[in-house]
Amino acid sequence: MPRPTFARVDLGAIVHNYRIAAAQAGSARAMAVVKANGYGHGIGAVAAALEADVGCFAVACLEEALAIRAAGSVHPVVLLQGVHEAADMALCGRQGFEPVLHSGYQADWLLAEQTRPQVWIKVNTGMNRLGFRPEELPALVQRLQTGGVSVRGFMSHFASADQAGSNKTEAQTRCFVEAVRPWPDKLRSVANSAAHFRAGQPLFDWTRPGIMLYGASPFVDRSAQSLGLKPAMSFESRLIAVRTLKPGEPVGYGETWRAPGQVTMGIVAAGYGDGYPRHAGTGTPASVNGHRVTLIGRVSMDMLAVDLTGVPQPAPGDTVELWGKQVSVDEVAKHAGTIGYELLTGLTRRVPRVYSTAEHPAGTD
Ligand SMILES: *Cc1c(COP(=O)(O)O)cnc(C)c1O
Repeated sequence: MPRPTFARVDLGAIVHNYRIAAAQAGSARAMAVVKANGYGHGIGAVAAALEADVGCFAVACLEEALAIRAAGSVHPVVLLQGVHEAADMALCGRQGFEPVLHSGYQADWLLAEQTRPQVWIKVNTGMNRLGFRPEELPALVQRLQTGGVSVRGFMSHFASADQAGSNKTEAQTRCFVEAVRPWPDKLRSVANSAAHFRAGQPLFDWTRPGIMLYGASPFVDRSAQSLGLKPAMSFESRLIAVRTLKPGEPVGYGETWRAPGQVTMGIVAAGYGDGYPRHAGTGTPASVNGHRVTLIGRVSMDMLAVDLTGVPQPAPGDTVELWGKQVSVDEVAKHAGTIGYELLTGLTRRVPRVYSTAEHPAGTD
């Protein structure tokens, strides 16, 4: 009998969310960002579900692009971090992958190859992580064009698009527009999920929605629901024990919580070994049989405890949603001092992904 802990993935919700991104993108097209195993949802299943709607995928690295091909996709795949060794340039060329060039050594690798992919050039407009400075572009483009390389477009990435009060995004956008002005025939791409919802933000030719596809919010202060997004993952488990605590009894490691009176509590078969955040403390919400409850004490590796006050007749076997439709992943993340991105991508291999098209854990990935 399998452990009753799994992630239910609603592929229809991902398609719905992609369509919201595409609508927000307006005349721009939206490439679906499916890096980090489709933000934890299973890259092959996510790519297959989106294949009919999207024209392009984006991932971090070559391994992820190959997983998309293995799932049967025929679309171009942008490698946001480019390639990590010279020989991979030729593989990109053969597979229809479009690596980003963010450093000079990648341009050297590309120019040394016979089988060349189309490439994107990363422009550093103020994130200061990767990319060429605007003043470095003319010499780079000249060198690539002389070498016969096909540059598809330019991209940049925003540092603070999720912060309404910041004008950093506008400054980065202006910097980008100026930097790429000499090459009006090339594609331009800047927008992550948050940028789709910024009033007046130019979205250029291609947007790059990631987190919103999975129904989590890119903003700290705006819920996914308020953006019209549907949660794609429900992290579910069951109660494996129901117990009554006497007043003053502690629960779990370190005795960080004590029963204020007689308390009915449940033990859930999920913990940080599954990717549930250990930093989620007492008071973090969950749902038992559709009733909201809160965590008590510390999260263990394989289990956690909830206060069952308010749940009628709780019993072992009752269903628990740790995040999903009733408790958003963003709410849990807030309690753990992090963001939904980290929880979704951090779900471990121990947790089977069960797809909405399958009724049974036989359809796992
Ligand atoms: C991950 C990533 C995105 C998607 O960002 P979200 O905030 O998840 O929408 C877009 N562009 C680049 C370069 C990325 O690395």
